[in-house]
Amino acid sequence: MSSDQASKRSIKKTKKLLRELFAFWIKWTGAGWWTIEIRYLNKKKELKKGVWKYKNGSVVLMKCFPDWRYVRATIWVNLPQCALCSREELESTVVHELIHIFLNELRSKKRGHEERVACTLASAFIWVRDQTMREEQIAHARRRIDK
Ligand SMILES: [Zn+2]
Repeated sequence: MSSDQASKRSIKKTKKLLRELFAFWIKWTGAGWWTIEIRYLNKKKELKKGVWKYKNGSVVLMKCFPDWRYVRATIWVNLPQCALCSREELESTVVHELIHIFLNELRSKKRGHEERVACTLASAFIWVRDQTMREEQIAHARRRIDK
């Protein structure tokens, strides 16, 4: 996923936020039984190892390299670029990359469908979380009224 938004979160706070988001979403996407390594790339030297721009010019925030044969995945994180993103954008990207872990086995030469399904499922997971939280708030409010 990519970003063009600008904000002022520090690298340290961005890494902390991403660690929290990954910890939460690895559980709630059901990816916890995979061995997942997250590499937070910050130094120019580290970032030079990958291509971080799409053909349309937008910047890549994260890359997922699943190996379904061994149930392992590595996710590369472009920290300086993530520092410019909103919390919502980071959350959606984290879920999107975790969904790639499951979809990778179906990958074909053209990745369009995999990207589309990853976006759709990421939105679905976040929607379910938000809906569950809303319903819990409503139930909590009702319990208080019934007291
Ligand atoms: Zn993707």
